[in-house]
Amino acid sequence: MTELSALFHRAAEIAAQHREGLPQAPVHAAEPMTWLHRLDRTMRDDPTPADEVLSELVDSFTPGLMATAGPRFFGFVIGGALPAATAADLVAVGWDQCAFNAVLSPAAAAAEQVAASWLLRVLGLPPGCSVGFVTGAQGANTTCLATARHHVLAEAGWDVERDGLGGAPVVRVVAGAERHATIDRALRLLGFGSAVLEPVAAKADGAIDVGRLDAVLASGRAGPTIVCVQAGNVNTGACDDLLSACEVAHHHGAWVHVDGAFGLWAAASPATASLVAGLDLADSWSVDGHKWLNVPYDVGFAICSRPQVHADALHYTAAYLTGQERPQPVLGDLVPESSRRARGFTVWAALRELGRQGVADLVERSCTLARRFADGLAAGGAEVVNEVVLNQVLASFGDDERNDAVVEAVQREGTCWLGGTTWRGRRLMRISVSGWSTTEADVDRSVEAVLRVAGRTG
Ligand SMILES: *Cc1c(COP(=O)(O)O)cnc(C)c1O
Repeated sequence: MTELSALFHRAAEIAAQHREGLPQAPVHAAEPMTWLHRLDRTMRDDPTPADEVLSELVDSFTPGLMATAGPRFFGFVIGGALPAATAADLVAVGWDQCAFNAVLSPAAAAAEQVAASWLLRVLGLPPGCSVGFVTGAQGANTTCLATARHHVLAEAGWDVERDGLGGAPVVRVVAGAERHATIDRALRLLGFGSAVLEPVAAKADGAIDVGRLDAVLASGRAGPTIVCVQAGNVNTGACDDLLSACEVAHHHGAWVHVDGAFGLWAAASPATASLVAGLDLADSWSVDGHKWLNVPYDVGFAICSRPQVHADALHYTAAYLTGQERPQPVLGDLVPESSRRARGFTVWAALRELGRQGVADLVERSCTLARRFADGLAAGGAEVVNEVVLNQVLASFGDDERNDAVVEAVQREGTCWLGGTTWRGRRLMRISVSGWSTTEADVDRSVEAVLRVAGRTG
């Protein structure tokens, strides 16, 4: 074995051992301060051999690892990474391809193209859509809203890429009150400012009130307008009524963007597809790969119904670049980055490993396990606050203070990890189920741990 081969074998072995230990290990990390002092924080002058670097890396950072890839992490909707998707990413790192465009890596470009077409089929989106492989839903929201900004202003005769927003026609941005905070950050980054946002009241479950959406759109002036709706509220899992929202928004001439970071995956299963019926009517969509599809970080998709508009909003080139010639949009025209890792391989592998049925099963199983979690907690005397329509559960054990204390104690106990949230003015426990490896036994063990910890938390 060559030195390089031995090094890579060791690295893969370390990753595999970590993964295999996850079902038994506590989910929390060691407290940061108990291990941070051990790190040598002075940068050395001399080089270090690669195998020593690997040993030091493992010794230094292992105590701080969270078992987010394991079966009992319910803190955010982030899932674990599937075996084939992880292996593909390991290989992709070894291949070290730059996915800027097909000249720089024909393989990376092909993988993104194939994965994109599979993705559109799984989500039930029109096959002609463009898909930018971005870092996550934040990147996708920003990219899609840049595309929307380009389109609505171009329709008003304004070239925002050239002339910016100073003196531009006013763009109205209307979104549900329960939108994700990354929509606001995207508006900040795009120069709209978050105050531009006209919020629309949500219903009790957090989904947008479409009647109110109609009223808000009718009350302001007609002109360039972007409407942001959502599939998958981070607290309740509720999805906006996309069919009605798209009809209403399009009636007012607006561009409709769907933030479906995790919720859009409801489309992949017949059991949940009705929650996102009408999603194909929208103009752009954000969805994550690293959440419910269980691919490694950082993978998200900025999807647009009009590839040319998508590319017009983001295209750039320079004298030294090749493969960026117009008019056909190329990979680099669909994302805000230039050099980036080849995310197509891991997405291709995840979709290949699961197949269409496997994606549907993963979504369905997560929802069934979320209901099992809710039922178990309710049977133990907890209050389940939301209707469990997807993979999200909100639970309460008493007042705000008690709920925060229970969440913290559960995190410390280590059987599982889940977080707290504020919903309708109340502090609650928030449980998200999205990992491919989570079983009924994991949920039952976690319910038992939560109830046990809650029972002794005053
Ligand atoms: C997680 C999430 C985001 C942000 O996604 P990242 O991948 O972390 O950037 C945006 N919107 C919703 C609804 C989310 O759940």
